[in-house]
Amino acid sequence: MTKDAIKIVVAGARGKMGREAVNMINNTEHFTLVGAIDHKYDGKLLSDLEGFPQTDVPIFTDSGLCFSSTRPDVLVDFTNPEAGLFHAEKALDFGVRPVIGTSGFSEKDVEHFKNRAEKKQVGMIIAPNFAIGAVLMMKFSQMAARYFPDIEIIEQHHNKKLDAPSGTAVKTAEMISKIREERRQGHPDEKETIEGARGADFNGMRIHSVRLPGLVAHQQVMFGGEGELLTIRHDSMHRTSFMSGVRLAIDTVMKLNTLVYGLENILE
Ligand code: NAP
Repeated sequence: MTKDAIKIVVAGARGKMGREAVNMINNTEHFTLVGAIDHKYDGKLLSDLEGFPQTDVPIFTDSGLCFSSTRPDVLVDFTNPEAGLFHAEKALDFGVRPVIGTSGFSEKDVEHFKNRAEKKQVGMIIAPNFAIGAVLMMKFSQMAARYFPDIEIIEQHHNKKLDAPSGTAVKTAEMISKIREERRQGHPDEKETIEGARGADFNGMRIHSVRLPGLVAHQQVMFGGEGELLTIRHDSMHRTSFMSGVRLAIDTVMKLNTLVYGLENILE
C-alpha cells in the first residue's frame, strides 16, 4: 500500500460493475482495496472466488463490521437500491464517504442523504451514470431542450437490469425539467390501446425502456421541431467506460463535506 493511499471497500464486488471497480482500484496506484461487502461468502477472501487472483481482502456480509474492521475512507457501491441505501446509511454512521453507482435512488433518498452528509460533514457522491460521454449527452440534451421542448427519451439496457426507467433516463429528465416548463406532449386526445405504449410520463416527457440481451447501456434523446428532428445518443459498449468516472468520484469525494448528485457536478 502506498503512503496516503485512499482505502476503499467495494459493495457488490462480484457483480458486473463491482468486478470492473475492483480491477480499476487494483490498477490505480494511490487506491487500496481493503474489503468487500457481499450478502454471501462472509469470512472468505475475495481471492477465494473466481476472477480475483491476488485480491486478498476479506468479504463481510455485515457492512458495519466491515467498516469498523477495515477502516476505509470510501465505500463504492454497485449492488441494488435496497442494499445500496442500507450500505450508504451505514457508511455515513462510520464516517466513510459513499460513492454510489447503484441506480434506483429516489429524489427523496437523495434529499435525505444530502441532509445526513451535511450534518456529518462527510463527502458523498451519487452518480446514476459514471460514463463521461453519458454525462455530456445529458448536458447537451439540457441545452437542446431550451429550443425543442417536445422530447422522447429512449434508454436501452441488458435484460438483467432490475430497475426501469434507468437512473440515467430519470437524471436526464430531471436536468431537462430545470429549463423546460411542464407540458403535455402528443395529441391531446391520444389513447393507449395497449397500456404503456406511450412510455412513462415525466412532466409530459416520455421515457421508454428497452431491455434485451446483447445491450450494455445506451440512451438516445429525441427532440422534435417544425420539420426537423434532433437525436443525441450515447452508447456504453463496455463497463470499463464507467471507470474513469468512478476514479474521479473517489478522488473528489475525499475533498467534499456534502453530497454531490451527478458526475456532471464534479467535471471541470
Ligand atoms: P450485478 O451484476 O447484478 O451486481 C450486483 C452485485 O451486488 C451482485 O454480485 C449481487 O450478488 C450483489 N448484491 C446483491 N445484494 C447485495 C447485498 N445486500 N450486499 C452486497 N452485495 C449484494 O449488477 P451490475 O450490472 O453490476 O449493476 C449494479 C448496480 O449498478 C445497478 O443498480 C445498476 O443499475 C448500476 N449501474 C450503475 C452505473 C453507473 O454508471 N452509475 C453503470 C452500470 C450499472 P448476487 O448476484 O448474489 O445477488
